[in-house]
Amino acid sequence: MERLRGVNLTQIRKYNLISTINIIKDHGPISRIDIGKHADFSPGTCTNITKILLERKLIRETSTGESRGGRKPTLLELNYNRGFVAGIEITDKIIRCKLYNLELQSQKKEYQCIFKNEKDILTAIKKSIDNQLSHYKIDKKDLFGIVIGVPGIVDTIKHGMIVSTNLKINSKIDIYDSLRERYKTPIYIENVGNLIALAEKNLVFKTESSLVSVIIKNSGIGSGIILNNEIFFGSFEDAGDIGHITIDRNGPECVCGNRGCLEAIGNIPAIKQKAIHGMMSGRKTQISKLADNDISKISLEIIRQAFDENDEFARSIIEEEADILYNGVLAIINTFNPEVIVFSGEISKFGDYLITRIKDQLKKTIFAFYIDRIVICYSELGDDAPLLGAGIFAANNFFKNPEVLFK
Ligand SMILES: [Zn+2]
Repeated sequence: MERLRGVNLTQIRKYNLISTINIIKDHGPISRIDIGKHADFSPGTCTNITKILLERKLIRETSTGESRGGRKPTLLELNYNRGFVAGIEITDKIIRCKLYNLELQSQKKEYQCIFKNEKDILTAIKKSIDNQLSHYKIDKKDLFGIVIGVPGIVDTIKHGMIVSTNLKINSKIDIYDSLRERYKTPIYIENVGNLIALAEKNLVFKTESSLVSVIIKNSGIGSGIILNNEIFFGSFEDAGDIGHITIDRNGPECVCGNRGCLEAIGNIPAIKQKAIHGMMSGRKTQISKLADNDISKISLEIIRQAFDENDEFARSIIEEEADILYNGVLAIINTFNPEVIVFSGEISKFGDYLITRIKDQLKKTIFAFYIDRIVICYSELGDDAPLLGAGIFAANNFFKNPEVLFK
């Protein structure tokens, strides 16, 4: 027997509730009779279950449907504004937070909060959520889930981030219990690559296809994998950490303890470092002019701008990056054979030339015969992808287990 506030639910009753919610979500507006047909419920069960959901305001009565001989039936639909979910992304210095209703319509503005060190992260998360709740006048009890995307290894059983090379975190940050205590809602901490993959899969590609999202942002390179319509976590929740596959065994030491990892050779600081090295060694390049001879001003935009002005050195930097990423892409193709590989993060500044170069390299391999059928592209969702993915993750979990509705 499972006890929810005011309602004693046997497993079967809980199952009936979840079935009804999802039938109304997928087929609403829908009559009670048709819900019964979809779920194989008796009319009495259907009346009881819909009564509970009407009382909790998760569904509402709407227009009347077509009569099949008797009185016109009242139709039921989901009230997507009954609750909200919070999508959060922790980047290297900033916490981003956005609220979504259960249909994933976002509140207009996201909130950003800067944090200085790992001790500040919990406070910054709370500040972000509280700001959004108060700004949009949403009661804490109507928060149906919080999903936090992090660029690191996550222990989903013990609910914590164990380590993040990107955030320079080396100890588990205990944010789960504190947030659970404060908001009394389901809390999920997820690798941000998984959340981006979920957003791309659900909002852009919308097919049954398998998909790998590769995120190249700040000092990190990570990925998220969707196989058979589900996030592929692996046995120890760390699948997709492609930043740490070896590209050059004699390469530079990586923060993970290995040598020559994709992340160590191909991350954003490594790209900038090549441009800096060129400038410092007196290489003739437009990059120097565009950066006002100031190495602190070097960015991927400037390298791209120089490339657009036919700068040979800028071209060589982009080509070298494409060749490094090609190795990562080849490993992904050989391991998962996905139909879609989507890049996101700052790397998109390098534009089509980088993607074309990767594809051209792939066409030189024995896998060439199906390379044209693999979509390799940049994310259309851009910076919104992590928060949208967090929103999707939270909403999906609510519809799988709406227990929070009875808190
Ligand atoms: Zn590594």
